[in-house]
Amino acid sequence: MSRKFAEDKLVVASHNKGKVREISELLAPYGAEVFSSAELDLSEPVEDGDSFIQNAEIKSKSATQESGLVSLADDSGLVVPSLGGIPGIHSARYALNPYTDERDFKYAMGKLNLELGNKDRSAYFSCALSLAWPDGHVETFEGKVHGTLVWPIRGENGFGYDPMFVADGLSKTFGEMEAQAKHAISHRANAFKKLIDACFRL
Ligand code: IMP
Repeated sequence: MSRKFAEDKLVVASHNKGKVREISELLAPYGAEVFSSAELDLSEPVEDGDSFIQNAEIKSKSATQESGLVSLADDSGLVVPSLGGIPGIHSARYALNPYTDERDFKYAMGKLNLELGNKDRSAYFSCALSLAWPDGHVETFEGKVHGTLVWPIRGENGFGYDPMFVADGLSKTFGEMEAQAKHAISHRANAFKKLIDACFRL
């Protein structure tokens, strides 16, 4: 049995404003006042875990220890099994273009396509969500969406690797789908459903 969230305050352990807004909206029906790491001036811990789950837990535990409040953190990325699981937990770093020193997902997708060649193009997105309490208790959930990496990339919607990813059973890339349609089936939606069912519903 998972521990239920019964507090009136929650920290979203992220310095990314978009992510904090999205998570706040999802949790609005449960009535907690949401604070971000930036608002509380919390530090950003080193994410040196070996999995999405470990990195989400490093972030949720660090925020709860510093703030004394229950904290929620996420970690996500793209996994390509035929390439040994890359870019995986390094999905953001993999997009660093050495020529410009900037994050560039067109560059990252081109690099992935070259590495793939004729190999199996199956891939999945994964998202871990971790809720940590000040007494050390942690509840963590992982959601996935499986699909295929296509070339050439298609679509301008979404972010990151979305234009290269077609979910199983669909024909549009995530980059061609409306946000609502992606959010209905995404790894993040999947992880959120598990978290809400386990910890937020009475
Ligand atoms: P983070 O969990 O916000 O650090 O995200 C890690 C990286 O994974 C992002 O920078 C993206 O490259 C990739 N990623 C995570 N979720 C998605 C998604 O829904 N679409 C495309 N890329 C994603």
